Order: sequence, then structure tokens, then C-alpha cells
Amino acid sequence: MSARIIDGKAFAAGVRARVAEHVARLKEQGIVPGLAVVLVGEDPASQVYVRNKGLQTVEAGMNSFEHKLPAETSEADLLALIAQLNADPAVHGILVQLPLPAHLNADLVINAISPVKDVDGFHISNVGLLGTGQKAMVPCTPLGCLMLLRDTLGSLSGLNAVVVGRSNIVGKPMAQLLLGDSCTVTIAHSRTKDLPEVCRRADIVVAAVGRPQMVKGDWIKPGATVIDVGINRIPAPEKGEGKMRLVGDVDFASAVEVAGAITPVPGGVGPMTIACLLANTLTACCRANHLPEPEGLTA
Ligand code: NDP
Repeated sequence: MSARIIDGKAFAAGVRARVAEHVARLKEQGIVPGLAVVLVGEDPASQVYVRNKGLQTVEAGMNSFEHKLPAETSEADLLALIAQLNADPAVHGILVQLPLPAHLNADLVINAISPVKDVDGFHISNVGLLGTGQKAMVPCTPLGCLMLLRDTLGSLSGLNAVVVGRSNIVGKPMAQLLLGDSCTVTIAHSRTKDLPEVCRRADIVVAAVGRPQMVKGDWIKPGATVIDVGINRIPAPEKGEGKMRLVGDVDFASAVEVAGAITPVPGGVGPMTIACLLANTLTACCRANHLPEPEGLTA
């Protein structure tokens, strides 16, 4: 039997619409949420991400402040900009686009962002708050995965979840969020023994590995929910010479035959990331103004 396809594109559009409605209500009170995005250098993929973030921020009715700095920007100049944004009351969220050029210390830069404006949720304070079950800014991609899982399964309590990947950006915060929803969580990584067998025990598999189509259908327990975070570009000779296509970390063709529900790539987790960035900016703005937070848009 074929799995239910989790339509992340449609769900993300719904999140953006809810954010926009809430922003419109805030504007009636004279409050406009603002997101500052800082891009250092000319990495082409980062330029596309930053442009999309700016466009969607404006579409949601928020202010977008883009700061494009040359690749050779010094750490001192970048830290000075962050200090200025931390102090600016019109800026509720600050995002520094990663990766940074090699001469800049990303940890130092991220930890210079005010934790209450850290809409990426990467500041060490937010990592600690999430890990201790306190109110945090939650990293956007795992937050998006959690929203899709809750929508698909309702309560996650007591389910066995396997997160494949232990990065600070996806794997670890994803595991914390699942633990927060009372899953029994296993974090797998490149040293995990018998990964297929570990995955076969899971009611929920979240794949965040960066290896195209690695998780096969026979690793999936029949009826399990599969969330594919991976975005990998592979050659697509069927589309013409030199053409590429996007695939996830899950072998969709075999997994869809076994899973109960599965996210496609593209159109699954991907669109949720920017939607959750907008949601986090709105949450940060509400917190800054001591207003109730939007329901269903936080962890
Ligand atoms: P990282 O490279 O930082 O982490 C990958 C993780 O996968 C590591 O923990 C690594 O283990 C583990 N891993 C690598 N190879 C294997 C293997 N053969 N078996 C088991 N585990 C393995 O990647 P990210 O977490 O940043 O990203 C993961 C994927 O998600 C990528 O495809 C990325 O493009 C995508 N992504 C998508 C986003 C979206 O918006 N949809 C946002 C962010 C990322 P170890 O620690 O032992 O090395």
C-alpha cells in the first residue's frame, strides 16, 4: 500500500497565512514585526535563500532588513552590526546566513546575537533552554518537522522516534523536540551499528544525513511516518545532458510503499523552514511586546 504524502508545501502556505493574519492584527496596534538578515560574501545558494527569506517576510506583512556585507568583512565589523541590530527596537529577529567565510568564527558571531532575537535558535542560550524544556527560540527546520508530525499523527506521546543525523542545526534539536513531545528517541549517526535495524524499530524516522536516497524502504517499519529533511542534487540524465534533480536522504520510491506517511523532496520539509522562520520572528515580536504568542506556531 502506498503511504500518505505529507504536503509540506500546502502546510507551509497555511503557516504563512496564519503568520500574516497575526501580523495584520499586530499592525492595528501599531506593531510591525521586523526580520534582519545578514549575508556575508557572495555564495550563490546563500544569495537565493536570503532573497527568498526577504520576499516571504514582506509577503507576510513584516519589515525585512537585508544587510549584505563583502566577503572580506572583519569579525569586528560584523559584531558591530549585530550589536546595532540587537539594540534596534524595529528588529525582532536577526538571522546570520550560514556558512560564513572561513576567517569568521560562526560560533562567536551567532552567540553575539541577542537570544530573544535569535530566530534561527542557534544561540547557546536557546540550545540550553530547549534542552531543559524551557521557552526557547527553536531552530526552524526541526520546528517545521515537528509541526508536520503533529499534524499527521496528533499526539506523539510514547512513539519510538529515530533521528538519523546529529548536527546542531537539525538532528540534535529535532531529538530534543521529539523528547519534549514524549517520544522515546534514538539519535543515529555515522558510527551507529546496524542502522537499518535501528530504523526498523521506529514509528517515526527523521532523516537528516545529507546522503542521497540512503534510507531504503526495507529500513522502514510498515505504517511508520517518515520525515525526509535531506536536500541533495543528483544528476538527472533523463531530463537532458548535465541536468540535475533534487532528492532527499530517503529512497522515496521504495519507502512510499512501506511507510504510513512520508514527506516528498521537494515539497516536504523544505518549504517549512522559511515558514517557521516567519513564525519565529512573529513569536519574538510578541514576546518583545509582552503579548500572547500565536497558537500552534511554536513548539
Ligand atoms: P550535517 O552534515 O551537519 O550532518 C549530517 C549528519 O548525518 C551527521 O550527524 C552525520 O554523522 C550523519 N551521517 C552522515 N553519513 C551517515 C551515514 N552513512 N549513516 C548515518 N549517519 C550519517 O548535515 P545537516 O544536519 O546540516 O543537514 C542534513 C541534510 O538536511 C542535508 O541534506 C541538508 O541539505 C538538509 N537540510 C535541509 C534543510 C531544509 O530546509 N529542508 C535545512 C538544513 C539541512 P556524524 O555526526 O557521525 O558525522
